[in-house]
Amino acid sequence: MAGLSHRRVIIVGAGQAGLATAAALIARGMEPQRDFVVIDRSPRARRAWSARRPSMRLLSNAEHSGFPRRPLEGDPYRHPTPRDIESYLHKFEAELGLKPVWGVRALAVTPHNNGPTLRLSTTVGEVQTRNIVCATGAAARPRFPEWAADAEVEGVWMHTSAYRTPEQIPPGRVLIVGGGNAGVEVASDLANSHDVTLAVRTRRTEVHARQYPSHPHVCPWRRAKTAQEPLYGHSYDALRDKGVHMQTETTGVRGDEFTFSDGSRQTYQSVIFATGYKAGDEWLPTFPQPQRRSRTSTALPGLFVAGIPSHSHAKANTLPGAWADATRIARFIHARP
Ligand SMILES: Cc1cc2nc3c(=O)[nH]c(=O)nc-3n(C[C@H](O)[C@H](O)[C@H](O)COP(=O)(O)OP(=O)(O)OC[C@H]3O[C@@H](n4cnc5c(N)ncnc54)[C@H](O)[C@@H]3O)c2cc1C
Repeated sequence: MAGLSHRRVIIVGAGQAGLATAAALIARGMEPQRDFVVIDRSPRARRAWSARRPSMRLLSNAEHSGFPRRPLEGDPYRHPTPRDIESYLHKFEAELGLKPVWGVRALAVTPHNNGPTLRLSTTVGEVQTRNIVCATGAAARPRFPEWAADAEVEGVWMHTSAYRTPEQIPPGRVLIVGGGNAGVEVASDLANSHDVTLAVRTRRTEVHARQYPSHPHVCPWRRAKTAQEPLYGHSYDALRDKGVHMQTETTGVRGDEFTFSDGSRQTYQSVIFATGYKAGDEWLPTFPQPQRRSRTSTALPGLFVAGIPSHSHAKANTLPGAWADATRIARFIHARP
């Protein structure tokens, strides 16, 4: 496959984890395009950050939202917008001299003839390489409850990943399913213009935004063992004060009538699922648990994962965390014969 073959490394994903890996390989003496390439399924330079709602502010402040020794410009205490991170990454890509191959999706990876080479299947064909780095993101695919497809509402049916502004949601009662950070932020955004209900299965611990795990004083392994992410910088009481109705867990739906774990039923014109994401690692082989190595390596020699906490550590999906993964992976690749 022209442009991808005869490379020592293929990095899949041109988000922050992919760029950090590229930078770490360059620091080890490898040349972009000649020794390694980066591919991404998105159309040209459309990173995940460009799809986030404009009113969103990062939970981490600017000081902790950049790569080590590459601070974001401007006030270090502000909470950056998705656009800030997008332009930061765009600039970083140019500084590295990287030319990602956009619009190519990785489909599967297998060992080639059981030898040391890997075979990567993509939407433009197959290619062999010695090393593959999966940097396809911890939040690549929206997650829905099993019953979600049964909802038939006259307004909108969407995941928070598709939410941008209140104007998208027609007037009427809106149910937000899921009381984590995304659900609470969207509820707060809609509270001034809509009649909003937030359905919460388990109330999260409320902590200061400073506790977001890209902050250096947060102990990553302690957070890794926490079953549920806390609510950063928000509170359920503050939402109630803004007029948001609180509900218990949504257990199902028939048409536009939703049922809740306290036995109550209610109809809504629109529903927004704030039910989280799945990682973009569906194209990797599934490894039996005991075979899986810890932190960034996999049971398949030459296949690495950057930026996905379930393959690494709790901070892996933050910019500083992805950098740590990338440095480690570059060291392994450099040492491989
Ligand atoms: C709503 C939300 C808020 C967040 N807030 C913060 C915050 O405040 N602070 C913070 O530090 N982090 C935050 N994060 C976490 C994290 O920083 C972002 O998710 C970030 O985008 C992760 O970068 P990444 O490079 O790992 O993945 P992504 O940015 O998702 O990049 C992965 C890339 O891989 C590509 N790709 C996916 N699958 C394939 C495939 N099969 N083949 C080829 N290409 C593929 C995608 O097109 C994408 O460009 C937030 C995440 C979300 C979802």
